[in-house]
Amino acid sequence: MKNVVIFGAPGSGKGTQSENIIKKYGYAHFSTGDILRKQIADQTELGKIAKTFIDEGKLVTDELIINMLDAELDSAKDAKGVIFDGFPRTYAQAEALKKMLNKRGTDVAVMLNIHVDEAELIKRLLERGKTSGRSDDNLETITKRIKTYNEQTTPVIDFYKKEGTCVDIQGVGSIDDIFASISKAIDAAKDL
Ligand code: AMP
Repeated sequence: MKNVVIFGAPGSGKGTQSENIIKKYGYAHFSTGDILRKQIADQTELGKIAKTFIDEGKLVTDELIINMLDAELDSAKDAKGVIFDGFPRTYAQAEALKKMLNKRGTDVAVMLNIHVDEAELIKRLLERGKTSGRSDDNLETITKRIKTYNEQTTPVIDFYKKEGTCVDIQGVGSIDDIFASISKAIDAAKDL
């Protein structure tokens, strides 16, 4: 089984490239942002709490996110691979993911660290905001989300550097070229 963490700032193309990975490799996909937006649409308690954080460009608490994902993970126990998209977003989440996977006899095979400069991120997210219907794709929240990424999420890179599984991906260019680098990294990763 190959567990893949697709990592990068908001707007770095994690969602788009996750779709390409699903098409080529048939992996299961967990996007914590998508799961939270579904909770909001379903008006669950978790959704109500999550919405206040999301609209402020802040992270939902580690405890809520970790419990939510742990509850979903067994649904992928027979998958060839799993893509973690938008998770982990803090060092504590990275540690928790390792524990969650280790207790199921597996681990993260590769972490794809997608690099896109800040001006390009803002441009892409504003463009996406025209059609996404997402309450957080507006300039004020985008700026906060990028700040949150820089302050709270970048330490995750050190975690995977220490693990020896971080692969840097140039995230600007054609979607196909970027996916070619992603495929190469996935193919080179060990099955765990
Ligand atoms: P995304 O769709 O990944 O851009 O996530 C949208 C928003 O959901 C983020 O700005 C956070 O408020 C929240 N969120 C998604 N994933 C996480 C996570 N792993 N930890 C904390 N908050 C998250």
